[in-house]
Amino acid sequence: RAKHQSDIEIAQASKLKPINEIAELIGLKQEDIELYGPYKAKITYEAMSQMKDVKNGKLVLVTSINPTPAGEGKSTVTVGLGDAFNLLGEKAMIAMREPSLGPTMGMKGGATGGGYAQVLPMEDINLHFTGDIHAITTANNALSALIDNHIHQGNALGIDARRITWKRSIDMNDRALRQVVIGLGGPVQGVPREDGFDITVASEIMAVLCLSKDLQDLKKRLSSMVIGYKYDRTPVTVKDLGVEGALTLLLKDALKPNLVQTIEHTPALIHGGPFANIAHGCNSVMATNAALKLSDIVVTEAGFGADLGAEKFLNIKTRALGAHPDAVVLVATVRALKMHGGQSKGDLNTEDLQALEKGLQNLKKHMETLEKFGVPFVIAINRFITDTDLELNALQKWCEDQGVAVSLTEVWEHGGKGGLDLAQKVLKIIDKHENHFNHFNHLYNEETSIEEKIKTIAINVYGAKNVEFSVKAKKQLNEIDKFEWAHLPVCMAKTQYSLSDDAKNLGRPEDFIITIRELRPKIGAGFIVALTGEVMTMPGLPSQPAAYQMDVDEQGKAIGLF
Ligand code: ADP
Repeated sequence: RAKHQSDIEIAQASKLKPINEIAELIGLKQEDIELYGPYKAKITYEAMSQMKDVKNGKLVLVTSINPTPAGEGKSTVTVGLGDAFNLLGEKAMIAMREPSLGPTMGMKGGATGGGYAQVLPMEDINLHFTGDIHAITTANNALSALIDNHIHQGNALGIDARRITWKRSIDMNDRALRQVVIGLGGPVQGVPREDGFDITVASEIMAVLCLSKDLQDLKKRLSSMVIGYKYDRTPVTVKDLGVEGALTLLLKDALKPNLVQTIEHTPALIHGGPFANIAHGCNSVMATNAALKLSDIVVTEAGFGADLGAEKFLNIKTRALGAHPDAVVLVATVRALKMHGGQSKGDLNTEDLQALEKGLQNLKKHMETLEKFGVPFVIAINRFITDTDLELNALQKWCEDQGVAVSLTEVWEHGGKGGLDLAQKVLKIIDKHENHFNHFNHLYNEETSIEEKIKTIAINVYGAKNVEFSVKAKKQLNEIDKFEWAHLPVCMAKTQYSLSDDAKNLGRPEDFIITIRELRPKIGAGFIVALTGEVMTMPGLPSQPAAYQMDVDEQGKAIGLF
C-alpha cells in the first residue's frame, strides 16, 4: 500500500461488480432485488418472506475496547473479517450501519471501513445512499407537523404544548437548531412553542426502523411512540393522533435492507444507523436477519466499546432479532491501549510497554463482560504500522497468558488476506460451541425493575460500585411503573470514552458511582433510555469541519471524502 493513498483513493481504484452478480452469489434472483443504479439494490419484502423458514447462519459480533482518539478500526475489522471468511471458502456476509451525514461533514471520517477493507461505493454510502435516512427525516418531521397542526386545529386531545417531547430532526450537525421557538407570527402561523432538532440518527424513528421485524411491526412500533403529555399528564401516542399509517407509508422502502459489496466483492447489507448513545447503535434487525438467511456466517458490528454497543446488542437487539452471536470479536489496538494506560495522543508513535501494560486493564474488563454474557470471543489486534514488535509481542503474550484466543489482524493493509488467522480462530470457537461453548444469557430478565436493570449494567458491565438516581429520575421511575413500561429493556446513554460516566477516566476505573440524571421512555423503539450525563442528540461541527476538504470534479467524482 502506497503510504499516501487515502481510503477514498483505494475505494475509487477498486473495480466493482454489478450488484446483480453479488445478489446471485447469495442466491437472490433478479426479481428479489430493486436496483438503485448498478451497484446498490434493496431486497424486496417478497424475497424476505420467502426466506423466512431458512435456517440461520452463524452470527459474529465485532466490538471493541473503549474508543480513544487513537482509533480502533471496528468497521475495518468487520469488513476484513467478512472478506477473510470468503477467502477461506465460507459463504459469508457483512451487516453494518449506514453513516450519518452529520459526522461525515464534521470529523468522524467514514463508517465504511478503511484501507483495503472497505464497502463500496463508499461515496454513495457516506452521502445519500438509497435515501433511507432522508425518509426517516421526513417521517420524523411529518409527525412534528401533524402534532402542531393538531394543536392549531383545536387540540382535541388536550396536548400540553409545554410537554411535547417529540422533536424535529435533520441529518446534520447543526448546534444552532438545538433549541428553537416555532409558530411565531400570529394566529394563522400556528401555536407558538419551544421545540428543538435532533440529528436524524438520534430520532426514535431510526431506532424503531432498526428494531422492526417487518412492516407490520414497524407500524405497531410507530403507533406506540410517545410524543408528549396531555394537560392531565397522561402520555400521547402516535396512535392517539391516528397517523401511524402515514408514517409507515413514508418508510415503506426505507425498511428494505440495502445490498452492496466490499472491495473483495463480499456481499454486504448496509442498513439503518441509530446513534449508539441515545439508541442501541447497530444496523437493522431486517438486515441482520436477511444476512443470517442468505449466508452461513454474518459479521456485524455494534457501535462504540463493548460497554455500550455490545451490551445493547446483547441485551436489546438480540430480543428483537430472536438470535444471538455465536462468537464475538473484541478489537483492540496497541495505540488505544497505550492511551488507556496514560500515554498522550501526541506520543503514541513512541514505544511504551508500561503504558501498554497498564492500558490492558481496559481490555480485561471487556473480556470479563463478554464472559458474563456467556459468549465465546477472540481478541483481534488491529495492527497499525507504527506498532513496534516488542509492543505487539507483549500484547499477544498477555492475551495468551489469559488463556484467550488472539489474532494479529492486518486487514487495513492487506484486505481479507490480513484476516485469515482471525477468521480461522473465529471458526474454531463457532464450531466448538455447537456442542458446549456458548452459554449466552441476557444480563437481566424483562420482569426486573428498571432500577435493577440499570444497576445490573452499571455494576456488571461498567464495574461501578453503585448507582445513584437524581430526584427527577426517581420521579420518572414511578411514572414508568404507572404507565406500565417497566418491562422494557434499558438503553444506557453514557460517554463512550470511559467505563465510568466521566469521559476523562480512562483505563479501568474503580469504586465509581454512576449517576442517572434522567429517563426517557422510547416506547416505539421498546426501551427506556437512561441518561448518565449530558447526552448530545444534536452534535455541532468542529472548528475545521471535514467539509472543508470536500469537493467534486467535473465528472461527478467525489474528492476529499476521507
Ligand atoms: P471504528 O469502526 O472503530 O470507528 P473504523 O474502522 O471506521 O473505526 O476506522 C477509523 C479510521 O481508522 C478509518 O479511517 C480507517 O481507515 C483507519 N484505520 C483503521 N484501521 C487502521 C489500521 N490498522 N491502520 C491505519 N489506519 C486504520
